[in-house]
Amino acid sequence: MQFFKTTSKRLIMFSILTICALVAVAQDQLASIAPIDKRMRAIDSVSLSKLLEVERFFGEPSANLYPTWDNKYINNYSVEMPKEYKIDLRGFHMPCESKRVTSSYGYRRSFRRNHYGTDLKVYVGDTIRSAFAGKIRVVANQGRKGYGKYVVIRHYNGLETVYGHLSKQLVVEDQEVKAGEVIGLGGNTGRSTGSHLHFETRFLGKFIDPETLFDFDACDILNDFYLFSSVSKGKLLTAAQAKALPSNDILASMGGPTFQADKEAQSKAFQEERRQSLRASVHRVQKGESLSVIARKRGTTVAKLCKLNNIKTTTVLRVGQIIKCS
Ligand SMILES: [Zn+2]
Repeated sequence: MQFFKTTSKRLIMFSILTICALVAVAQDQLASIAPIDKRMRAIDSVSLSKLLEVERFFGEPSANLYPTWDNKYINNYSVEMPKEYKIDLRGFHMPCESKRVTSSYGYRRSFRRNHYGTDLKVYVGDTIRSAFAGKIRVVANQGRKGYGKYVVIRHYNGLETVYGHLSKQLVVEDQEVKAGEVIGLGGNTGRSTGSHLHFETRFLGKFIDPETLFDFDACDILNDFYLFSSVSKGKLLTAAQAKALPSNDILASMGGPTFQADKEAQSKAFQEERRQSLRASVHRVQKGESLSVIARKRGTTVAKLCKLNNIKTTTVLRVGQIIKCS
């Protein structure tokens, strides 16, 4: 569902781009023959607002990575992750003056749930700052639940940072901020016991433990770059090591959400092909079908089906059940 939503949004963006291009061509032709005042009028308000919308989207930080820019959802991405991406950590600024980590990222036995950020001890009213340069994406309030008053910033290095439990937000959505710029005041809002800053780092919606990037005690980064990897653990890199790797555009195109990949996804043929290959790789169990019958129909073996679906030869299949066959 999410995929289609995103795709349709992208389709809209693509159509807007196409319309703008056509408008521009038409206006060029018009411009050569029309007097100046008519040329001005040719840029009507509708095409101008469409143009602004396009500019607005493509002007966002890390627009090559993120399919959308919205002010509502903390995480609303359903893109394929790039295999690797170099995150430039230089320019980091401590989100608060305090260096005291009161709770780290990871599983919390006492709450029996994961903690997706680093908690830093701050007092109500302490200054909270943007960790990197970027643009304010979300300024919202979850009330007594979750983050309470929080801010989400998208940065130019591909990261998004989240600041939770604030007592006051001092920025507005779509506002550009520099690293270290004041974004709010520390607090104790949301699900929080004792005032603290809940600080998260995410890459395309995937959580990264902030303490794998920063040494809060030293108020510094652990290295110049962090190589995000969707296939293995990420790792820290020196600037020289990062330089030796392919550019992010190339890295992201290796199975990533670049606009090149977007364009392919936008074509109906591509989508149909995708649907068909999906259909070919799965089988919906019909009445009376056994594993051996399905194996024969799909030109495979019972053993392969069992392995693919992690089932036994004796497993009873349910009618309507979907099983993988390639
Ligand atoms: Zn926390």
